[in-house]
Amino acid sequence: MKLFLAMMSHETNTFSNVPADRAQFEARNLHYGGAILENFRDTGTCLGGMIDVARRHGATLVPSVAASASPAGHVTADVYHTVKERMLQDLAASGRLDGVLLDLHGAMVPEGLDDGEGDLIAAVREAVGPAVPIAVTLDFHGNLSAAMVKHATLLHGYKTYPHVDMAERGAEAAARLMDVIAGRLRPTVAFRKPPLLPALGNQGTARGPMRRLYDLADEMERDPRVISISVFAGFPFADIPDAGFGVYVVTDDDQALAEQLAETLTRVAWEHRHEFLHTALPVREAVAKALAAEGRPMILADMADNTGGGAAGDGTEILRELVRVGARSAVVACLWDPAAVLSCVKVGVGARVTLEVGGKVDDRHGAPLSVTGTVRTLSDGRFVHKGPMMRGLPGRLGTTAVLDVDDIKVILISYRWQTFDPEMIRFVGIDPTAEKVVVVKSTIHYRAAFEPLAKEIIEVDAPGLSSSNLTRFPFERIRRPIFPLDLGTTYP
Ligand SMILES: [Zn+2]
Repeated sequence: MKLFLAMMSHETNTFSNVPADRAQFEARNLHYGGAILENFRDTGTCLGGMIDVARRHGATLVPSVAASASPAGHVTADVYHTVKERMLQDLAASGRLDGVLLDLHGAMVPEGLDDGEGDLIAAVREAVGPAVPIAVTLDFHGNLSAAMVKHATLLHGYKTYPHVDMAERGAEAAARLMDVIAGRLRPTVAFRKPPLLPALGNQGTARGPMRRLYDLADEMERDPRVISISVFAGFPFADIPDAGFGVYVVTDDDQALAEQLAETLTRVAWEHRHEFLHTALPVREAVAKALAAEGRPMILADMADNTGGGAAGDGTEILRELVRVGARSAVVACLWDPAAVLSCVKVGVGARVTLEVGGKVDDRHGAPLSVTGTVRTLSDGRFVHKGPMMRGLPGRLGTTAVLDVDDIKVILISYRWQTFDPEMIRFVGIDPTAEKVVVVKSTIHYRAAFEPLAKEIIEVDAPGLSSSNLTRFPFERIRRPIFPLDLGTTYP
């Protein structure tokens, strides 16, 4: 059995002014051919799961291209078309294929296109023809579209946020694809897109509305006629018509059942839509609460400055408050500021330096902050993920400096990456459990690894492009009315 394998993954925050260009992809993943297998084999990723199942079933993989970048603004047309063309060329050169495995995101917005994945899957479909099944993994934050549903044979969305089931979904996609190829399954699909735009803050699957929906979906999946169910919370920071919540149900040759289950899940989501509304503590209150608390570490989640949601990652407002009140035993992880890193490299370890950190990308994450501190460490930014997310996958933060500002340790990084793994703090010689205050720039993902070691978590309402207060965003192109931007939206 011969299966084509490719990855193109980006979560696009259309409000960001940081283009997802070639450099951003090269800093994360841009691999071709056999290097894909080397890089992703035995990792907690979709590709890791796909590669594992293919190996166990003796399938031959034709690895083409694997491209991903940290969430940011639009994917440049150059990168998108380069990757797409590469896939199409490799498909043409592959000869007869039995199936196609794609690891995509679902919220990619290339320049000049609203629905990157819809466009890409359509192109692959055209290349392989109607008879070759295509199985696709999508992120929990995918903004499901009619084009994705139409051109793919099977979609498999992650069922967890934090995303700890990527390898499992990749394995599932590969296994079900083989079932379809062997004629054991005949997929029939239903999907729904109610007018619902959940903010990230209450999308977590440990509790709340998404837990309820996945409990229900898990129950439905026990029926042997159900192949799989994906409930997409959606990515709200994409100002495109299809942004938001989506339900996808695929059954074995039973269209009526697929429609019925999709409708039930959508109704339940709609009934509980108010549970998606999220509030967090203002910066001053949050810092005061953390410093006054007994025990450590107090985790301050800088939810709105999550590079994993396309925010800048250089927000300064929590750091500014820590400095203002003279906090001690604090760490800020991690602040994206290559210029500040360079300044630290110039003076070297042990030197004192005054410099402006953060607030440089745009005016949506607080102004730059002038600080004086000692360069505590410098490193090449290489670490390995050790938490429940992406375990085993090498991470690269680029040249990394720790600036110690009167016992507020600011981890300055050169490549954008969300702080969801404590290893991003440990690898520079700081033990997060020994600190009183740990600021993490993450909305939900940090919970998988930080919740078990936290004394307490405080969600902070600082400014930023991944804020769960959606009324702060100048939406123009999203379909209206939509809840909660239009609170009186009724179910169609
Ligand atoms: Zn996601």
